[in-house]
Amino acid sequence: MSDVAAPAPAVPSETLEPIDPIALSALQHWMYCPRQCALIHQEQAFAENVHTLRGQAVHKTVDTPGFEARSGYRVERALPVWNDALGLIGKADVVEFHADGRAYPVEYKHGSRHKAPAIAACDDVQLGAQAMCLEAMTGQPVPEGAIFYAKSKKRRVVPITPALRETVQATTLAVRQMLTDAVMPPPLVADSRCKECSLIDICQPFAQITLSQHAELRVALFNPDR
Ligand code: SF4
Repeated sequence: MSDVAAPAPAVPSETLEPIDPIALSALQHWMYCPRQCALIHQEQAFAENVHTLRGQAVHKTVDTPGFEARSGYRVERALPVWNDALGLIGKADVVEFHADGRAYPVEYKHGSRHKAPAIAACDDVQLGAQAMCLEAMTGQPVPEGAIFYAKSKKRRVVPITPALRETVQATTLAVRQMLTDAVMPPPLVADSRCKECSLIDICQPFAQITLSQHAELRVALFNPDR
């Protein structure tokens, strides 16, 4: 008898379960805070704050599908994008299509372009995912895109580097795992991002206590004379 295991029979592609596509925005939410991502994309929680309202105001200009011809390129607004291999779907605020066939995504964000690196990284992952969707759709490389910040009225150019692509893939896997397992990640601890988060009242990050704090509380409750 041979010790070599027989190769597993190939599964015909038509019998594979199609993967549920993940919204591009989920990647940005996950990068900001995994619990925020779960609250929005698993629990369908939603709340407004000044930041979400500002974001909506910025997106008013680019949320209406349409296109216009400019000198040497065409601008598409609110363009549906997807990548079946990664299982991603969403909408690109603006995509410029240049004469050589190159697609150039531009994501609109409120605020100034001088954001903390960790917050800017959330935007970069969303843009990187859009670029990878456009590559899958057009068959052309998308080596660069930009974030347009409404307050600064300036673009920040973002190269779509191998490292950014890896982060997009890793984040997609992490979000898919979270949705499959239906787990609620713990809140951030003493993190300034909570102050900016519209879900703070739903999340109650400061009401969460650690297991050891919980044990201490139980002891105190049941041993009042201690
Ligand atoms: S309040 Fe803080 S921990 Fe809760 S979802 Fe928002 S950022 Fe995350």
